[in-house]
Amino acid sequence: MYDVIVVGGGPAGISAALVLGRCNRRVLLCDSGRYRNGHSQAVHGFLSRDGISPAELRRIGREQLAPYSVKILEAEVTSATRTDRGFRVQLGGGGGQAEARKLLLATGLIDALPEIPGLDELYGRSVFVCPYCDAWELRGQPLGVHGGGGAALALSLLTWSADVVLFTDGAGWPGPEDADKLTAAGIRVIDTHVTRLIGQGGVLERVELADGTSVRRRALFLKLAGQGQRSALAQQLELPVSDKQGVRTGDRECTSINGLYVAGDASRDLLFAVVAAAEGASAAFGINCELQAEEQEQMMLTRRQASQDPAVEHVAIAGHRPRVARVARSARWARAGGVRHAARGLSRG
Ligand SMILES: Cc1cc2nc3c(=O)[nH]c(=O)nc-3n(C[C@H](O)[C@H](O)[C@H](O)COP(=O)(O)OP(=O)(O)OC[C@H]3O[C@@H](n4cnc5c(N)ncnc54)[C@H](O)[C@@H]3O)c2cc1C
Repeated sequence: MYDVIVVGGGPAGISAALVLGRCNRRVLLCDSGRYRNGHSQAVHGFLSRDGISPAELRRIGREQLAPYSVKILEAEVTSATRTDRGFRVQLGGGGGQAEARKLLLATGLIDALPEIPGLDELYGRSVFVCPYCDAWELRGQPLGVHGGGGAALALSLLTWSADVVLFTDGAGWPGPEDADKLTAAGIRVIDTHVTRLIGQGGVLERVELADGTSVRRRALFLKLAGQGQRSALAQQLELPVSDKQGVRTGDRECTSINGLYVAGDASRDLLFAVVAAAEGASAAFGINCELQAEEQEQMMLTRRQASQDPAVEHVAIAGHRPRVARVARSARWARAGGVRHAARGLSRG
């Protein structure tokens, strides 16, 4: 029985495992190795790690778990259920089951990418989803936004470049208010279908359109049609999700189910790696506080039970806080005068 099972070994899960490990908690960290920025070349904006590759960030994170009581399993958790004592998870690939008092889902999100020929080779290199993550490297260059409803994203890109084109890919023209803003900003809107992205060595060169023309662009930012939970666990556990498919969480990433927490992209606040890590730490704090409260309650229960037990003497000793000592009502106890004998036992304790 573990104290905590963490599902997901991204920034959120590793950060939670680190804090919990430092609380002497027995932790099982399960990770299936399919993470949101897996196609990306670099994580930007992560304090002290700006520009590190996503895989290297994880490698260092895992390495730093080594001193602690954290077991890492390369395994998918295929199901999770509640039990009397906490939670039970089923591990994929015949990995059996594991149980813990608390469960943290740090399972991330999955992006609904458009199907455009050429996108796979360029995704994470010249095609991105988040300007905060990737636009600085492309500042001042010809940028594009792809997708219906992409007006706000196109306007936001002006922070990094004055040369922005919005490709609605046939989804229709923006409404009058957005159209006015786009015109004022000098952002060209193209409502023709996008047929292909053309580039070499991961560098986007042109966006090809259904009318046979193409537009020179260095990078494209996607206005995603949607996102979803990477794992089915939240749904299995019937956790309520927002309209953006993030699990609704409360204080310290707790959920509507006692002992169950969700952190990182899966609970959808700001979708930054550093925010996911902070949420993981916050969840770990909440979990440890909950475990501590339970342990203290159990301690008091044991004390109360012991004080009602006729085989137990309640002993108060000058200079000590009153404590309960369980002693055999033996002849030795009676001969030694009881309290004095117990006092020696307590001072050792
Ligand atoms: C192209 C791209 C570039 C990005 N660039 C940046 C950037 O530069 N800077 C930045 O701050 N953010 C960036 N992000 C966002 C960043 O990737 C996320 O915010 C961050 O990865 C969230 O961390 P997480 O731990 O919540 O989820 P993830 O990193 O997605 O990790 C979730 C983990 O859970 C595992 N998992 C899921 N289900 C299960 C299961 N059932 N059993 C076991 N394991 C499971 C997955 O395998 C995965 O390893 C980028 C995103 C994208 C798409």
